[in-house]
Amino acid sequence: MTEESRPNFVKNKPPHMKELYACLQCGYCRSVCPVYRETGWETLTPRGKVFLLKQLADKNSFLDKILGKKITDFLIGRKKIPVEEIMKAIYNCSLCSRCETICHVDINFHEYWEEIRTWLVENGITPPENTVNMYNDIADKEFKNPFKEALAKRNEWYRDEYDLPNKAETVYFIGCVASFHEYQVLLSTLKVLKTADLDFTTLGTDEMCCGAINAMTGQWGNFKEIAEYNVKQIVKRGAKRVVTGCPGCYRAFKKYRNFTKCDFELLHTSELIADLIDSKKLVFTKPFKEKNLPIVYHDPCELGRISEFEGRGIFDAPRHILKSIPGIDEILEFPNNRMESSCCGGGGGLKAGNYDLTMKIAIRKVDEAIELGAKTIVSTCPNCKGTIGTAIEMKKEEMKKQDKKLKMKVMDVIEIVAKSL
Ligand code: SF4
Ligand code: SF4
Repeated sequence: MTEESRPNFVKNKPPHMKELYACLQCGYCRSVCPVYRETGWETLTPRGKVFLLKQLADKNSFLDKILGKKITDFLIGRKKIPVEEIMKAIYNCSLCSRCETICHVDINFHEYWEEIRTWLVENGITPPENTVNMYNDIADKEFKNPFKEALAKRNEWYRDEYDLPNKAETVYFIGCVASFHEYQVLLSTLKVLKTADLDFTTLGTDEMCCGAINAMTGQWGNFKEIAEYNVKQIVKRGAKRVVTGCPGCYRAFKKYRNFTKCDFELLHTSELIADLIDSKKLVFTKPFKEKNLPIVYHDPCELGRISEFEGRGIFDAPRHILKSIPGIDEILEFPNNRMESSCCGGGGGLKAGNYDLTMKIAIRKVDEAIELGAKTIVSTCPNCKGTIGTAIEMKKEEMKKQDKKLKMKVMDVIEIVAKSL
């Protein structure tokens, strides 16, 4: 690559160069990266990405001098403008932050990868096409969601049925995945909150995508606007508390605090449900179906590890709820759990950018559950549920071809709670 053909942004250094130079290139992070596990491609490891970024920033690195040419020529091929290769390295990542748990020099990867994506976008590098489409569909007033679903679909069938008030102490922020794809999570949550006699409402068609996908893919253009819009809708309902079952929305709402005033309390549904169980506002009467036992719990990255990096990880509340359900005497654990939980592959915009890779990562999760002898994988994230659910179906197909049968399903914690009332 000649100096002239190098993309403009290479002339500007990536953010936090100090952290990049702190990397020891020890490679410990390779062993835990789900993307590396499936691809075996060094450039996609955290170490590889860091090395690539350092080389892009250094005009005359030590290695360039020895080799007499830009080391990135070797790393990313001799294409004229290797933008696609840089994009591939940075966006082939589920933002799971598992690398942060093992990094010797404590690079804050849960913030870092998002900042690098932001830097790329600010320098005119377009993120994967599907994520750009999602950004545009969220901004489109006809949809306000990344799936291009009609806005009316958020509202048409449940608000009247559940007789939800216009004002309430708690707003249940549903999120786009539960609104449009994982209806059972939505229906179960409504049933549970009604049974607990909670003073709550939803935003109906006034709910807009939380903007998590925009933030994760470096597309911050309308994030402030989204934050202000959703907060305004919540304030209009007189709510003192927001509860959401989606870890992506949960994190986006935490980011809102940097953009607008948010006085309300923020909870994930698992925290609220655990409290409702302890205060005896939820009493279970029906046991979990024996044929679906044993269960194994999957910690969603954003709810557990990443929230822990941000101050408070939610690991115990979902397990506490499951232990309270009649018929569940044991919760199996994945070999990597809690802070070390292996990603399902569905986060960080990876599913939109590289669906096949996401499914490979998710199928590995299913394989681990089969190895444990689990019949039900339980999570508390609609996106994990959707991703793992598809992986289970793919695994079933694969096994069918070998004349084998797989009995396995995926459930959200809230579905189990609702079925046990
Ligand atoms: S965040 Fe996850 S997928 Fe991305 S580099 Fe780190 S370990 Fe790999
Ligand atoms: S674990 Fe940290 S220091 Fe070691 S190679 Fe990975 S990013 Fe660099």
